[in-house]
Amino acid sequence: MTTAKRIDGKAKADQLAASITEQTAALLREHGLRPGLAVVIIGDDPASQVYVRNKKRRAEACGFFSVQHTLAEDTSQTDVLKLIDSLNNDEAIHGILVQLPLPEHLDEQTITQAVAPTKDVDGFHFVNIGKLTAGHTADAFVPCTPAGCMLMIEDELGPDLSGKNAVIIGRSNIVGKPMASLLLQRNATITITHSRTADLSAVVSNADIVVAAVGRANMVKADWIKPGAVVIDVGINRVETRIDGETRSRLTGDVDYDDVCSVAGAVTPVPGGVGPMTITMLMFNTLRSARLSAGLEG
Ligand code: NAD
Repeated sequence: MTTAKRIDGKAKADQLAASITEQTAALLREHGLRPGLAVVIIGDDPASQVYVRNKKRRAEACGFFSVQHTLAEDTSQTDVLKLIDSLNNDEAIHGILVQLPLPEHLDEQTITQAVAPTKDVDGFHFVNIGKLTAGHTADAFVPCTPAGCMLMIEDELGPDLSGKNAVIIGRSNIVGKPMASLLLQRNATITITHSRTADLSAVVSNADIVVAAVGRANMVKADWIKPGAVVIDVGINRVETRIDGETRSRLTGDVDYDDVCSVAGAVTPVPGGVGPMTITMLMFNTLRSARLSAGLEG
């Protein structure tokens, strides 16, 4: 029996995108400034192509100037760095995103750290990570996925999470760790769990807020969940199912949605939860970058 509220990330993302579109039009009207987003994709990973296409589409729908640089799989690191340097110095560009994962011969750290911190709308630069960790977010870029999760958590529980226990499953630099910083800023008590955590289900069962970012289909079950907990499912897993004798592939999260809905208070679905919010937060960061560049924020 389903009892939990389904957190509609798509509806929230659409609402936020409408507000970004309005603010973008006002920025152009009042200051002659159009936010510019450059997306760099190297190689032909099919999932990355879909993500990049969606980001470009969303940027254009918001009224941004949007460019995509598609580089061949065997592009040298020197050439990637040259392109990033030219985008760093391009006044029409306020946000630079290098789609991950990169082909193996390229060094992810060197490339992500080459993006100017002021244009790092993914929030991966050490300067932005440091500012977030120090709680100095006035002019920092927060990574898009945890930023989107935080807005959905706030909708359910309000801005002050004093007295709440939050358990994050996964300690990646792009989701788990920044998620912990954001929740800590809101006064939650944080536990970060990972592949070496003992008795994970017992740790999770103490959580008022669960954020699952692992990459293992349907791993989080109802008997891990404290009644009424808010469960945010970041995982994206492609699983094969047999329907009418045919094998079909579909997306599923890290949370066993139907099972967990029988205990939790609110749960994000996959698809339609964290994913759409992530793309919209990229637009939010790019608009913010344009405003910061013009001294209108910060
Ligand atoms: P990652 O591979 O960098 O990190 C996975 C984390 O899970 C690691 O910290 C690891 O310790 C932990 N882990 C692995 N096995 C575990 C286990 N058995 N128990 C507990 N922890 C375990 O992944 P990531 O980049 O953080 O992404 C995680 C998932 O979120 C993936 O499915 C990814 O596709 C998805 N994702 C979705 C979005 C979105 O917008 N919806 C954005 C980023 C990532």
